[in-house]
Amino acid sequence: MEEAKRKTISELGRNEPPPDDCCPICFSSFFAPFQAPCGHWYCGGCIMEYWNHVAAFRPCKCPLCSRPITNLTPEPTLYQQQDDDAGIRETINNVRKYNCLFAGGFVLQLLQLPLFLKRLIQAMMDPDRPVAYLSRMRLLAVLFGALYTLSPFDFLPRFRYLDAIDLFDCSAIAISFSLYFVGLYSRRRRLRRLRQVAPIPPFEVDM
Ligand SMILES: [Zn+2]
Ligand SMILES: [Zn+2]
Repeated sequence: MEEAKRKTISELGRNEPPPDDCCPICFSSFFAPFQAPCGHWYCGGCIMEYWNHVAAFRPCKCPLCSRPITNLTPEPTLYQQQDDDAGIRETINNVRKYNCLFAGGFVLQLLQLPLFLKRLIQAMMDPDRPVAYLSRMRLLAVLFGALYTLSPFDFLPRFRYLDAIDLFDCSAIAISFSLYFVGLYSRRRRLRRLRQVAPIPPFEVDM
């Protein structure tokens, strides 16, 4: 009876990925599978990697049906497997943070502030989107500058032509451009290293 019940749940695809299916991102057998609310299954690592590339601060959309993935449910046996496999443990941990960010309440979201800041810095270092967050950073800087001006604090150096708001604004611009150039430099370094490991063969023309 219990066996039959488990089989029915499995057939409905609620508890484990279909045995004859593969991950739609890496096209291999599922490794540490997680299910999206729409019912589609992915390797935990693959869907996290996908999220890293498509959205910095929004939940990613299911690559198959485009519904937003606000929560990922692990295959139940993963919790038993995590004791013996560091890779599964790390994936469960990453997905837990993702779930807290998009499905958790305000307190859980606040606890993920380090992850949020890390992603902000990564997004600002993206060489394909030069200074993508400049306007938002400047807006925040003006806000902080206004708060500082209204507050009793007075620890910033004084300049003749710059007030506190200008100072925060200039800092935001400087930080945005610095992070962009750091991102550009690290990509060039990665490419150079890649060429050393696997040099591109010279183009040969048959005469
Ligand atoms: Zn995969
Ligand atoms: Zn889907």
